[in-house]
Amino acid sequence: MDMHTDASSPDRRRFLRLTGSAVATAGILGLGGQSAWAQAGATPAAGDSHVAPAKDLPAAISLPPMQEDKSEKSRMPVQLGKDSRLGLAIVGLGRLSLEEILPALANSKRCRVTALVSGDPAKARQVAAMYDVPETSLYDYQTFDQIRNNPDVQAVYIVLPNALHKAFTERAAKAGKHVLCEKPMATSVADCQVMIDACKAAGRLLMIAYRIQYEPLNRQVKDWARGGSVLGKIKLITMANCQNQSKENIRQWRHIKALAGGGALPDIGLYCLNTARFLLGEEPIEVLATQYSTEGDARFAEVEEAILWQMRFPGGVRAQCTASYAGFTSRQYRVLGEKGWANMDPAFGYNGLQLKRSRMAEDTDEFMAPGIEQITPQEKNQFALEMDHFAECVAGGKQPWTPGEEGLQDQRIMEAIYESARTGRAVELAPVKGLDAFRGTEPTKP
Ligand code: NAD
Repeated sequence: MDMHTDASSPDRRRFLRLTGSAVATAGILGLGGQSAWAQAGATPAAGDSHVAPAKDLPAAISLPPMQEDKSEKSRMPVQLGKDSRLGLAIVGLGRLSLEEILPALANSKRCRVTALVSGDPAKARQVAAMYDVPETSLYDYQTFDQIRNNPDVQAVYIVLPNALHKAFTERAAKAGKHVLCEKPMATSVADCQVMIDACKAAGRLLMIAYRIQYEPLNRQVKDWARGGSVLGKIKLITMANCQNQSKENIRQWRHIKALAGGGALPDIGLYCLNTARFLLGEEPIEVLATQYSTEGDARFAEVEEAILWQMRFPGGVRAQCTASYAGFTSRQYRVLGEKGWANMDPAFGYNGLQLKRSRMAEDTDEFMAPGIEQITPQEKNQFALEMDHFAECVAGGKQPWTPGEEGLQDQRIMEAIYESARTGRAVELAPVKGLDAFRGTEPTKP
C-alpha cells in the first residue's frame, strides 16, 4: 500500500522548509574582451593575468528567514547582479554543455557564462549569440591559453572527454583561472594528483562537478543515513546505474579507452561509487569486483560493458553496485537500515528524482507492516546548485564540498575495482579516518 506523506508530519515540514524556496531566474549577459580568434598564435606576456582575486567577488545578499520577516527588505533579490557573478568559460560544447549546463545558468544566482571554448568556430558563434557571449570571448583548444587575458573569466568549467580534463585543468590554472571539472576527474590517480598540484601551485580552486552531492533529495537521504534515528543502523546499500549505449556511433569517445579511461565504471558506475561514499561519509576499506563484455559487441572492444562490485565500509555497511552500458535505463538505489529504508528511483537523472521511505513507527521496536511515504519537494536544477556552490567558494576563498581530493579518492577506488575484476580477488584500500575526509565546505541549503 502506498501511503503518501502528510504535509503536516514533522519530517515533511522540516523537508519542505529545506527545499521550498522559489527558483530564481536571471538574464545572462556577456561583456567584451580580447579577440582570441583574431589573436590566434599571439603569445601573452608571462604572468599577464587579469583574473579578479577571489576576495574581490562580493558575497550574495543574505536574507532573514521568510516566515519571520515579511517586510519589504525580505523581498530583495538573492541572486547577484551581472557584474558580481562568477564569469565562467565553458570548455567543450558537447551534449552536456549545450543541453544542461548552459540552460542551467538561467537558474544560477551566482554565475554567468562569459566565454566559450570549442573546436568548431561556427558552433561557438551560434551558441555565443544565444547566450550573449561576445565573439571576442570565443576560443578554440589551441588559443585556450589566451583566456588569461580575459578579465571577464574568473573560472573555467571543463566539459570535455575524460582524458582531456588533466591538460585543460593545468592550462586553466596556469592562466590564473579557478577550475570546475566534470566527472570523472581524470583517467588515472597520477593525473588527478597533477591537477590538484597545478591548482594549488596557482592558488586556484579545483572542484569536481558531482551534482548529486548538491541535490536536495540525495542530501536528505545522507542525513537519514547518517543520523541513525530515521532508518536505524545502516546495513546495506544496493545501487545500479545502467544505460544502453547507441550502436550507431561505435567509435564515440566513451568507447575509446584512451579518452574515456574505461567503460561503464568511470562514466555511470561512478555515480554509485561516489553517492555511496557521500551518503555514509566513510571510505571503503575493501572492494570485490567482476566485469564482462559481450563477445563480438563492437561497442565494448576496448572498454567494459558491465561491472559489478561490492564495497566494504569500516562501519560494517556493504554496498552492492552495478553499472551496465547495455541495459535499459535504470538509475536507482536503496539504503537499508535496521528500522527502515530509503529508496531513490530514479536516483541519478537530471530531474524527476523520486524518493520513498519506509520505516517502523517511532519509539517502538515492534514489527509492523511498513507503509511507504513518497517525498516530493520542489525540484532544483542540480547544475545551478553545483555551480553556485563553486561560485560561493571562489568568492569566499573556501575549499569546495567536492574538491579535487574527492575526485582523486574515487579514482583510487576505481583502480582498485578494476584490479579486483582483473585478479578475481578482493582488494584492500588504505583506511581513512573520520567522516567526509576529502570534502570541503558544506553547501548552503538551497
Ligand atoms: P560529448 O561527446 O557530448 O561532448 C564532448 C565535447 O568535447 C564535444 O564538443 C567534442 O567536440 C569535444 N572534444 C574536444 N576534443 C575531443 C576529442 N579529442 N575527442 C572527442 N571530443 C572532443 O560529451 P559529454 O556528454 O558532453 O561529456 C563531457 C564530459 O562531461 C565528460 O567528462 C562526461 O563524463 C561528463 N558528463 C557529466 C555528466 C553529469 O551529469 N555530470 C553528464 C554527462 C557527461
